[in-house]
Amino acid sequence: MRYHEMNPEEIREKIQTDFNKGLTEEEVSRRRKQFGFNELQEGEKQSALLLFFSQFKDFMVIVLLVATLISGLLGEYIDAIAIMAIVLLNGILGFFQERRAEKSLEALKELSAPTATVLRNGKWVKIPSKEIVPGDIIRFASGDRIGADVRILEANSLEIEESALTGESVPTSKDTEVIHGENVGIGDMSNMAFMGTMVTRGSGVGVVIGTGMKTAMGQIADMLQTTETLTTPLQRRLEQLGKILIIVALFLTLLVVMIGIMQGHDLYTMFLSGVSLAVAAIPEGLPAIVTIALSLGVQRMIKKNSIVRKLPAVETLGCASVICSDKTGTMTQNKMTVTHLWANNEVWNVSGQGYVPEGKFMKNNNIVDPKKDVHFEKLLSFAILCNHANLITEKKNDYKLDGDPTEGALLVAGLKAGFTRENLLNEYTIIQEFPFDSARKMMTIIVENKKGERFAITKGAPDILIQLSESVFANGKEQHLTQQWINRLQQAVESLAKQALRTIAISYKKLNTKTTYVHESEVENNLTFIGLHGMIDPPRPEVKDAIKECKEAGIKTVMITGDHVITAKAIGKELGLIRSDSLVLDGATLDTMSVEELEEVVDRVSVFARVSPEHKLKIVKALQNNGHIVAMTGDGVNDAPAIKAADIGIAMGITGTDVAKESSSLVLLDDNFATIKAAIQEGRNIYENIRKFIRYLLASNVGEILVMLFAMILAMPLPLVPIQILWVNLVTDGLPAMALGLDRPEDDVMKRAPRSPKEGVFARGLGWKVISRGFLIGVATLIAFIVVYRNNPNDLAYAQTVAFATLVLAQLIHVFDCRSEHSIFSRNPFGNPYLVWAVISSVILLLVVIYYPPLATVFHTVPIVPRDWLLILAMASIPTFLLVGSLFIHKK
Ligand code: ATP
Repeated sequence: MRYHEMNPEEIREKIQTDFNKGLTEEEVSRRRKQFGFNELQEGEKQSALLLFFSQFKDFMVIVLLVATLISGLLGEYIDAIAIMAIVLLNGILGFFQERRAEKSLEALKELSAPTATVLRNGKWVKIPSKEIVPGDIIRFASGDRIGADVRILEANSLEIEESALTGESVPTSKDTEVIHGENVGIGDMSNMAFMGTMVTRGSGVGVVIGTGMKTAMGQIADMLQTTETLTTPLQRRLEQLGKILIIVALFLTLLVVMIGIMQGHDLYTMFLSGVSLAVAAIPEGLPAIVTIALSLGVQRMIKKNSIVRKLPAVETLGCASVICSDKTGTMTQNKMTVTHLWANNEVWNVSGQGYVPEGKFMKNNNIVDPKKDVHFEKLLSFAILCNHANLITEKKNDYKLDGDPTEGALLVAGLKAGFTRENLLNEYTIIQEFPFDSARKMMTIIVENKKGERFAITKGAPDILIQLSESVFANGKEQHLTQQWINRLQQAVESLAKQALRTIAISYKKLNTKTTYVHESEVENNLTFIGLHGMIDPPRPEVKDAIKECKEAGIKTVMITGDHVITAKAIGKELGLIRSDSLVLDGATLDTMSVEELEEVVDRVSVFARVSPEHKLKIVKALQNNGHIVAMTGDGVNDAPAIKAADIGIAMGITGTDVAKESSSLVLLDDNFATIKAAIQEGRNIYENIRKFIRYLLASNVGEILVMLFAMILAMPLPLVPIQILWVNLVTDGLPAMALGLDRPEDDVMKRAPRSPKEGVFARGLGWKVISRGFLIGVATLIAFIVVYRNNPNDLAYAQTVAFATLVLAQLIHVFDCRSEHSIFSRNPFGNPYLVWAVISSVILLLVVIYYPPLATVFHTVPIVPRDWLLILAMASIPTFLLVGSLFIHKK
């Protein structure tokens, strides 16, 4: 017999678990040993050895190795071994860079791993889905991805989308009924939920019957082994650029070689120099360093509470021009407290702080008792019944909330009056529930009292409940909802909302015992309105500044909320979001507008209120059509389409559903708006850092090629020997470039307008900087070479050593200039300790190869006399300081 054919009793027998308490920890570890982790087996990964060898597969590197081999055979042992060693070092560097990049990408995957809520030792706990074992009892609700194969034991309006398994994108309704027959297809197993499928509505509880490869998903896991390689637009652009650079470098090298041969240099030397130059000038380290800069940035972002799920988002973040953010929990603290009540045309105040269930009820400054007032009694007690929140106390006076904060606030208000859920459940039995969803903005339960009378309790957005009501409970009885009453209710709502309070209305409706209700719309009508709860949800203190900083950075913040227009406006004002010319649009108005009509006004809208998640997509589209790069936050299933459509989809780490997280490219671990700002700042910084080392690497390469080219044109001897060229390449491609990737942002990084996503790598003067600095590095090196060579034409090795030292130092000085878009003086040049150390160690390495005799032999260097160091320093400074100087003159 298969699981769908068994009743719960038979399943419990078979799988040996306790439906009320779940498994014990000992049992879990026993089963983990038996069944292993709940994981699908992954495909083969590239082995470390393979990765290492792949470092040497570049065409030019192979040519270099062959050339070296030949020179070795011809007797140039030392040269050959040295070149091999450098190529090997280069390979090792590349290997570690790529390994590091890969590792951090893996760590990212780990961080965004799914979780599940399971019953263990009688307590509901959240664990990584990987740790689920057969026999676990798991709970799931709308937005969750099911973590294992499950036989459903409890289902409330449960619907699951199973397209991952069945290809059918319409969600299937689920229940707990036994299904007869062996050969039932997965699509028809309505009492089962499968790993990898997604809850789109309602909630449920089930017992795990299969994990890992023993799930329906595991059986087709092989088909799912599509490894997505995620490259960012910049990486792709650099790849193209790399190809162009290879051609340019090869062409120039060829030119150097040809001119050299024409000038009478011997073929063999020119060949080896040419190949070395080509290897040096091709920025083969670029892609790996870019990946490292991206992934290091991503790690910095994790420290600031945001997880990047898709690497390209790092770049897009820097382009964001609009942030559309949810209000509740993102801009506000989501710590709600009921402070006002309205019923029977009276306003009461409630005292007390946070979730501590102690406080007094006051009417016109006099203490009152809700238990003695039938209206307030209903208002408070019904709000506890139609509610899933729980208050947890582990220590005295330390109350934590388990559940939705809005419901928590209602629960605490009721507890303050002395109502408890336990007592209420003695009086009422809950028969059925229609869960809350942000599109309906309400929730309903059906209860039966001791007398066998049934009625529905609905709680939800007041403006919507008013429309659905036909009477109001006042003066101890149901009264017809006249226009006068409607006005009174609306005024009550508005007066609470103006104080930035979130409002929830409670209503009820008598029901017929015989009728069964399938759809909520059958119940949510002709209600009797009882009253209102008004709750505060203070803004997060850091959000106001974050919004201001975004504004300075040319990024507009838009608040999107399901809350009442007036509440939203009041909070928007508090946060400095609403200016005199700002518009506030509500969901009803949005419904009447086409995307085109919205485009016309959307740039002026600061607040969208009383919207449903479905509206978010329209807002994203309108903004994008106006040329904006949109960041959009969300948490529920219905938010997923908008999150996906946005340029940067952002999901909430705490309140977000799996579905929202999976659609997103960024997850906020703390659900905080200020974190979005921090992520954007980091995104801009990462991009700037990448620009920094592209600029540095390419200018260095241009310098290396030009010094050789100019020397050949001027019929000079070779200013650098091959091994020196390779050494320069190793040192400059290595530490200093990586240190630039770790640089801190410039002060004005959040004072600039967002970058255009169409902007090329060399935009904003970068191309000019590369060529001009590179040109000067080449010329300055050549001048140093010529001066020394003219002085003593018999000692070519000495002149070459001077050229070598000048080239290296010119690059090491220039690297400080690369830290700023403005000039080397615009920030403390020694502000990046990594860079300072990278440069110091490169200088030490330079001195070692010049002054340590065994290495000096290898690198064909001779000791430089102190006087010539002055020349070297002067020449090496020119490329950086000459242009900075000209900049000054220009400005004046
Ligand atoms: P956002 O998170 O987008 O800023 P929100 O959280 O205020 O918005 P929703 O959660 O969609 O938006 O809530 C919309 C309205 O529905 C609220 O203003 C409130 O009146 C009502 N509401 C919220 N939570 C519940 C609930 N648990 N039960 C019944 N009604 C609710």
